[in-house]
Amino acid sequence: MSNYTMIKEIKEYARINDVPIMQDEGIDFLTTFILKNQTTRVLEVGTAIGYSAIMMALAHPKLKVVTIERDEQRYLEALKNVKKFGLEDRITLLFKDALDVNLHEKFDLIFLDGAKGQNINFFEHFERNLDEGGYIITDNISFHGYVEKDESEIKSRNLRGLVRKIKAYIEYLKTNPNYITTFYDKGDGISVTQRKEG
Ligand code: SAH
Ligand code: MG
Repeated sequence: MSNYTMIKEIKEYARINDVPIMQDEGIDFLTTFILKNQTTRVLEVGTAIGYSAIMMALAHPKLKVVTIERDEQRYLEALKNVKKFGLEDRITLLFKDALDVNLHEKFDLIFLDGAKGQNINFFEHFERNLDEGGYIITDNISFHGYVEKDESEIKSRNLRGLVRKIKAYIEYLKTNPNYITTFYDKGDGISVTQRKEG
């Protein structure tokens, strides 16, 4: 089976099972970023079924990903998918809560795509693993457009709480003196944060 057909199958599985994988525009952005920056060491928070990790690995032949997932069913599905692509040597899957994972290695890209209300915690937990000049990319900064909406338009209390947390994260990025962040209106909203030199 071709990579193209296998990717289509993963996307179909995600659609049927409501797995929130990255949108096409977001994936294009991420893979273009990887090529432009020659990114080779990636840490991903939120594997889901392995789609974004596989797409990143396919984008650059030398790229390696360590990716973390806390949901067992998704982790097992990701394991299966990574094997299908023969990417076991380049994609390392960890079945854990990301905040319980302590790594010593450095990465040139940390991709945050886990629980949307936890981004500040993920950021502070993993910034020690960011190489000098490395980037932290965060997905779903716009959260289906809710972040741009007036709060009164959001009926669900849970959703309002989540949107507030995403806004707090955006504020955190904007005001963090050690980093420079650019926000992109791509896919579901993506931020690219670079550590300042020196
Ligand atoms: N990056 C994937 C989509 C991830 S969806 C892709 O685009 O293909 C977000 C995933 O993050 C979910 O599967 C959820 O179980 C996982 N997640 C959320 N919080 C987490 C945490 N604290 N640790 C590990 N995984 C987490
Ligand atoms: Mg996402």
